[in-house]
Amino acid sequence: MALGVVSRFVDHLRYFTPAYYEVKDVIGVWRDPVPDAIPMVSIFGDNRLSQRHPDWVQIGPGGERATRSSRYFDWDALCPTKAPVFAQGLAWVKQATQRTGQDIIRLDDVTYAREGFCQCEACIQASRESGCSWTEFRIRRITEFVEHARQLVPRVQMTLYPDPFPGHMEERFGIDVNRLKPYVEAFVVPLYDLHYATTYWVEILAQAFAQRLPCRWYVELYGLEVPEAALLHACQVASAYADGVIIAYDNQLDKLRRIQARLQQP
Ligand SMILES: [Zn+2]
Repeated sequence: MALGVVSRFVDHLRYFTPAYYEVKDVIGVWRDPVPDAIPMVSIFGDNRLSQRHPDWVQIGPGGERATRSSRYFDWDALCPTKAPVFAQGLAWVKQATQRTGQDIIRLDDVTYAREGFCQCEACIQASRESGCSWTEFRIRRITEFVEHARQLVPRVQMTLYPDPFPGHMEERFGIDVNRLKPYVEAFVVPLYDLHYATTYWVEILAQAFAQRLPCRWYVELYGLEVPEAALLHACQVASAYADGVIIAYDNQLDKLRRIQARLQQP
């Protein structure tokens, strides 16, 4: 069973596979990629760029802006339909891989923000010109981005929002996993909690994604300050359904190594 990490501690990375290093986060902070770790880049989530280009922010029903100051967003979401946003995303893909000669990348936040997003003028016009349904128009745009990224980097992994309810990935986020399959070697599904005091919901979500996803995929659990026994148990539950488990943001290497040893016991 694969046990991977997302870590900002470069010395942790070599012990785990897959090992991700967050090169650009949703805040917009850039950290240069490191050799032998998979660079992880937030593509359409970027608080800094949304400040600099307020017109790039996704717009929802009733004019709601997809920023962290509105109801359920934790960061600002840029509009994938807009050509400069699309081009910036691809520029980051290049920048994150070419300097270290990486043949792999993990894309975060390649998505429309929620159902009804985005209704900026560019989206309304492009959707009308496409001649297809609203859902289909958005799926085509997201798929097009991943296809372009795949032309730049031979191996692409992609993070999904953890909503496996039938139709939601397509209608809420513009994501059709079957159409993405030719370009994506693995999906990553974050199921984050600060305690994992119960795990029935980890099981339900992991089982649902196992049924839906057409290729290799990992569950990603949150690690920082989560009690070790609870985190181990959540890993064991998730590993029954996914091809591997990733622990994100834990800062204790000894804890991660103990969990790894327990999970890899025959
Ligand atoms: Zn838009």
